[in-house]
Amino acid sequence: MVSSASHKRLSIGIVGGGIGGVALAVALSRDPGLKVRLFEAAEQFSEIGAGVSFGPNAVRAITLLGLEASYRHISDSSPAPFEDVWFEWRRGSDDAYLTATLAPGCGQSSVHRADFLEAIVENLPEGIARFGKRCVAVEQDGDGTTAQFADGTAYTADILIGFDGIKSAVRDHVLSPAQHAELGPFWSGTYAYRGMIPTEQLEAAMAARGADKRLARVPQMYLGPDRHILTFPVKQTELINVVAFITDRSTPAPQLPEGEEWVSTVSQEEMLEVFAGWGAGSQAILDCIPEPTRWALHELPELPRYRRGRVLIVGDAAHAMVPHQGAGAGQALEDAYVLAGLLTDQACDRQSAEQALAAFEAVRHARACKVQRTSHEAGDVYEYAAAGIGDDEARLIENLKSRYDWLWQHDPQDDVAEARRRLGWQPHADSRAAKSRQA
Ligand SMILES: Cc1cc2nc3c(=O)[nH]c(=O)nc-3n(C[C@H](O)[C@H](O)[C@H](O)COP(=O)(O)OP(=O)(O)OC[C@H]3O[C@@H](n4cnc5c(N)ncnc54)[C@H](O)[C@@H]3O)c2cc1C
Repeated sequence: MVSSASHKRLSIGIVGGGIGGVALAVALSRDPGLKVRLFEAAEQFSEIGAGVSFGPNAVRAITLLGLEASYRHISDSSPAPFEDVWFEWRRGSDDAYLTATLAPGCGQSSVHRADFLEAIVENLPEGIARFGKRCVAVEQDGDGTTAQFADGTAYTADILIGFDGIKSAVRDHVLSPAQHAELGPFWSGTYAYRGMIPTEQLEAAMAARGADKRLARVPQMYLGPDRHILTFPVKQTELINVVAFITDRSTPAPQLPEGEEWVSTVSQEEMLEVFAGWGAGSQAILDCIPEPTRWALHELPELPRYRRGRVLIVGDAAHAMVPHQGAGAGQALEDAYVLAGLLTDQACDRQSAEQALAAFEAVRHARACKVQRTSHEAGDVYEYAAAGIGDDEARLIENLKSRYDWLWQHDPQDDVAEARRRLGWQPHADSRAAKSRQA
């Protein structure tokens, strides 16, 4: 049994040490009034060797979480004079330019996942993380919560936060699968082929195929019916991150073949076959990925709630989505910031923590659901399958120019302020000062 005896204002257990869980633990660890423990199933913090891209809202959350310096050290941006370009959009069949989506002041802000996790872990004090702790069950009573782990140990805290990803065990406590079988992860119908290419190799391949070499470094999306390909640079533009998507829209609820793994290594031939007939840019990209991995992209339905008593789920555990707006990790980081903003308040203690979790849920739920929903719709837009748009490129261009505005312009400080208002807590002096500085 891991002890939780504490003279602190509040004790908090976090299950899951991915991007979201670590960011939350770092933010909470700065408050000496809190006892924080993070439980990760793996033997160490780890992320896959792929890229992750952040919109302006996610970069804002990173900054507010005090992680900007760690982030800037390792992040990539679109090369000059394309600094504000999030993605250029092209027709996949012939590389024809359609439009560009601009994110002024941010552009395409991306990192290598493993580098990012390592960079934020450096901000986590010793003694907070525990490894080899796979949560298998959760219990609670009026006073506290207990997480039980596969190794036979358990941890009791005042509140428990499930940041344990799409296959969350904590979610099973919040929304029991026996009563809510329909609320588990489902296959979106989309496979994503992933790979990383040395930038100079891709430039040479572009040139050899007669495509514009610039397409290698400037973030690109190549669009076509039921398929699209994206590229953006990572690792100080040493590498280009590639994801190539194909979607089965032949049935409303496509099923993954029985027994198929979510992630597998597949042949290059399979991927080339999917994009047969596409333009020189796409062919150059796919030529450079000899061993793609194929991901069956799963998502969650919009859950009716994220909380049960003193237990809350956040990040992918609560709102896993398809990656078509590059927004899932950004939502996890917004969650981390808003939750930390409430839990680090002096007014938040053993008695009021449950209401704080309820206020968090009340202010975050609608936005997270909308990001899930619009992420799915974005895949339809990119793949010429959106209602009212289809293969009408003029409408497609119109949609791409502004579809991210509401997502990117969000300020999570407003969520904290709204939650505080619901709790009847005084407006926070820091957030008032920050707001007046922004004004
Ligand atoms: C192909 C693809 C591309 C993507 N691209 C982007 C992008 O460009 N931008 C973006 O914002 N998002 C992107 N996403 C989404 C993003 O990866 C997720 O939204 C993000 O990683 C969620 O973070 P999280 O911390 O909530 O969960 P996770 O990153 O899944 O972390 C969960 C952690 O919990 C641990 N864990 C799991 N179960 C247990 C348990 N029972 N007990 C203890 N620990 C446990 C895991 O080991 C893991 O460390 C992409 C996703 C995919 C699949």
